[in-house]
This record gives sequence, C-alpha cells and structure tokens, in this order.
Amino acid sequence: MPELLRSREAEGTCAEANSKQQTANSKQQTANSKQQTANSKQQTANSKQQTANSKQQMKIFCIGRNYSDHAKELGNAVPENPVVFSKPDTALVKNGEPFYLPDFSNDVHHEVELVIKISKMGKKIQEKFARNYFNEIGLGIDFTARDMQQQLKEKGLPWELAKAFDGSAPIGEFMDVSNVDLGNINFSLQKNGTVVQTGNTAQMIFSFEQIVSFISQYFTLKVGDLIYTGTPAGVGKVSVGDKLEGFIEETKMLTCEVR
Ligand code: ZN
Repeated sequence: MPELLRSREAEGTCAEANSKQQTANSKQQTANSKQQTANSKQQTANSKQQTANSKQQMKIFCIGRNYSDHAKELGNAVPENPVVFSKPDTALVKNGEPFYLPDFSNDVHHEVELVIKISKMGKKIQEKFARNYFNEIGLGIDFTARDMQQQLKEKGLPWELAKAFDGSAPIGEFMDVSNVDLGNINFSLQKNGTVVQTGNTAQMIFSFEQIVSFISQYFTLKVGDLIYTGTPAGVGKVSVGDKLEGFIEETKMLTCEVR
C-alpha cells in the first residue's frame, strides 16, 4: 500500500508539474506573440522611416578654394586636394524664395557657384567614369558668414557654423549638360543689376570629374546629392534688400532676394 500511495502521489505531483509547465508555455507563447506584434509594428515604423528618409535625405557637398583668384583674394594657399565641406538639407532655399540674413553675423558674403546634381549612385568612382554620374548643372549660392568663418579658421575649428546654417544654400534651376563642353562654361552673378562675380569652368583648379571622383572615395554619392563646385573671385557682403541674379552663359538660372 505505501508503495502504491507513493506512486499515486508521485503521479499527482507529476501531473501538477505538467500543468504548471503548460501554463508557463502558454504564457511564453502569449509573450512571444506580443513580441512578434511589437516587432511587426517596429518594422512598419522602420519602413515608414526609410520611405521618409529616402525622400528627405540628400547630401550637399561644397568645394572651397577651387578658383585660384578667389583663394588668393582670401589669402589662402591653392590646395593640393579639393577642400570639401558639407551642408545639411535645411540649408537649401528653393524656388526663388528669399534668403534671410542670420542675426549672428555682420558680414555675410555671396559666393556664386556651379552646382552638380548626382544622377547615379556610386562610390570610389574613377575620374574617367565620373561624367556618367551627373547630367545636370545649376547655379547656387554658398552664403558664408565671413566674420564667423575667420574666427573659426583662426582657431582651427570646423566651418559649419559659418557655412551650413539654415538658408545658406539657395539653389536655382538646372540644365541638361549631356552635350555641353564642361571645360568652358561661363557663369556670373549680378547684385542689384551690377555684375559682381564672373567665372569660367576653365579656371577651376579641380574639374567636375576630379571633384566627383575625390568625394566618392569617402562618401557614397546618391541620386539627388548636390555638389557646389567653388566660387570665383568677387565675393562680397550682402545687405537687406539686395537682389542677386545668377546666370549660366546668358540664361538666368537663379534669383535670390536678401531680407
Ligand atoms: Zn563656396
């Protein structure tokens, strides 16, 4: 008898243990199910974020000191490699909207520049193939808080605050340059009807192809990325009320009022 009792007790204990285990499994399944729902929601959120990112995220690169006459006017040495910096997309001013002078500078300069629009994704692009990665150029202004930039340069600090602030990169129309000689493009900037800057791509220290190749050694270039390719001599201060108009050859590509 004691033998049987022990056996039944053991069975009973065993059944109880199984039941507890089943409850535990069931709870675990519920937890797993909740986790899957959470994961699914996270995936949906990630997917939405990626869609948003693909629409909004683009890079803006700028080349400094790419025209020797401008490098000289600011007392800078002619560089051995392209001087590269970038601006966030919040710097862009599109559709002829005005540029608002920032309150942290008393010496904001216009720098008119030809701008490449990347048409094909690429990295580590060889110079001889670089021409395949853009087919449009436009005109933009690399607004620069010169007083602030001078202070940053003296301290050996990055230029971002002086170069990449909100509204610092007005951009105009683009034109197809598939059949254009990129080594001989004239462009100019008028301030209140007077020509203040003129340039020709023959004066560039680094060509469009060299710039695209150089930047792509460090950054993957994506469709829609913009590259401001440097300004010729004649940069100068802008004031409230100034009207800037940019031309490629005789065609007006950019209008920007200063407020
Ligand atoms: Zn510039």
